[in-house]
Amino acid sequence: MRSTICLVEDNPDNRLLVHALLDDDYTVLEYADGASALAGLKVVRPDLVLLDISLPEMDGTEVLARIRQDADVQRLPVIALTAHAMAGDRARLLALGFDDYITKPISDETLLLGAIARCLDAAHAASHG
Ligand code: MN
Repeated sequence: MRSTICLVEDNPDNRLLVHALLDDDYTVLEYADGASALAGLKVVRPDLVLLDISLPEMDGTEVLARIRQDADVQRLPVIALTAHAMAGDRARLLALGFDDYITKPISDETLLLGAIARCLDAAHAASHG
C-alpha cells in the first residue's frame, strides 16, 4: 500500500522539489509551518514526517517535541531536513528524537529515498512486534 508522507517546509521551492522526488512512490501532504502540520497530523495520519528545522514561529525541534509528547502521533518516524551549515549537528538531532536527517540542498535523491525507506521499514517492524 502507498505510504503517506507529511512534508513540513516553509520554502515553496523546496516543497516543490521534495514533492516531485516523492510523488511517484508516496502520497505527499504539504504544510508550510509547524502549527498547521501539527493540526493536520491529527486529521490525516501520515506514515512518516519530513520536518524542516528552520521554520518560522515554531522551529522543527519544537514541532518534533510536540509530536513526541502526543500519544496519538509520538511513534511516527520523523526525518529532519537541515541546511548544510547544520550538518554537524547529527548527534544533537538524533538525541532530540529524530529518526534520521537529510541535508539541503538535496543533491542526491537516493539519500532521501533511502532514509525514508529505512524509517518506514523500522516503523513497520516495530508495530508488528
Ligand atoms: Mn525553512
